[in-house]
Amino acid sequence: MSNILCVLYQDPVDGYPPAYPRDEIPKIERYWDGQTTPTPERIDFTPGELLGTVSGELGLRKFLEERGHELIVTADKDGPDSVFERELGEAEVVISQPFWPAYLTAERIAKAPNLKLAITAGIGSDHVDLQAAMEGGITVAEVTYCNSISVSEHVVMMILALVRNYIPSYEVVIDGGWNIADCVSRSYDIEGMQVGTVGAGRIGSAVLRRLKPFEVGLHYTDRHRLPETVETDLGVTYHPTVESLVEACDVVTINAPLHPETEHLFNDQLIGKMKRGAYLVNTARGKICDRDAVARALESGQLAGYAGDVWFPQPAPRDHPWRSMPHHGMTPHVSGTSLSAQARYAAGTREILECFFDGRPLREEYLIVEGGALAGAGAHSYSAGDATEGSEEAARFGED
Ligand code: NDP
Repeated sequence: MSNILCVLYQDPVDGYPPAYPRDEIPKIERYWDGQTTPTPERIDFTPGELLGTVSGELGLRKFLEERGHELIVTADKDGPDSVFERELGEAEVVISQPFWPAYLTAERIAKAPNLKLAITAGIGSDHVDLQAAMEGGITVAEVTYCNSISVSEHVVMMILALVRNYIPSYEVVIDGGWNIADCVSRSYDIEGMQVGTVGAGRIGSAVLRRLKPFEVGLHYTDRHRLPETVETDLGVTYHPTVESLVEACDVVTINAPLHPETEHLFNDQLIGKMKRGAYLVNTARGKICDRDAVARALESGQLAGYAGDVWFPQPAPRDHPWRSMPHHGMTPHVSGTSLSAQARYAAGTREILECFFDGRPLREEYLIVEGGALAGAGAHSYSAGDATEGSEEAARFGED
């Protein structure tokens, strides 16, 4: 019998929806590169329903209890008195979603002597101290590709929302107004603009494919160059450095993981190299940007807009400057947890658990850390080290 400790976000404030807006979600069997969507032996949930919540339990309870395991599900994840920290000592498997991350710092890993597997129900395992996981022999796995397309759709939406000044114009309507000049004095077309992505992996390249019909100039920088045929098909310009990319672009979107190489990459210096009035969209991880540098750049006009759904830490304290800085289009961390995405990562989490309990290898592409080293997708896209420092501040959310 194993103890599985699962941290999920809270249920809706007004309770579970009595009905959903749509009766079904499309069935996707393969992603763009041919990789299959998750293939668990079975699922015990209805795709299209809320699964990432405490009551949704990722649809795992029946499966785990039938196999004799104990499942503990909680949203109480921050601070030394949290349920998460109290239960860690017994846990063999920890499951957490990046939207409501259970930070697995080195200190917490030291309190979890039985921990063998940390699953990210989603993509992005930076909430785990990967260095400590390597040293502790813990496997870290995520459901690679499960919500990459969800995020790419969100990125395109946010670019358009910022450049076209959608949110302030919507607010004019809500406020009963009709002042068109107020709406359009910050509104442009993206046609003809130069748009670049930092990271052209699953999300970044999907953003490029989606933006191509908008007749913009496309740019990217990445640690590995895309195949020449892909570059030619997209008509995308490669930049060997992020500096060269930002100097050329009107809109920059960040689609790289958070790891020591990317932590605070967008600081005063790099933002200062961007064109005046550029837009920055970050749905990757909040900590890739220097929090105060972003707020300063919006105040000064160096950035015309900033949007994204990722913060550090999460949940963001109520006084986090990104809640109140000008010209932003921030949301809580939602882009990768649409109902469509939840069905995929719940199935992927189950697939990983089935393999783990049956002693079968996990899919190579799901691995971030295994056998004391970066592995699979982790070896391709991450660097060794830790990016969890400062995550204790998440405990402040409940206090103020
Ligand atoms: P991929 O691994 O497919 O792509 C990440 C890309 O970033 C890779 O091509 C990688 O390069 C590149 N990269 C890594 N380090 C650097 C660097 N220093 N400079 C430039 N490029 C770099 O992952 P996805 O596209 O699926 O996801 C990317 C990130 O988006 C996730 O790690 C996660 O943090 C975030 N995300 C956010 C979600 C949300 O809900 N907001 C949901 C899903 C993901 P290479 O592999 O060539 O070395």
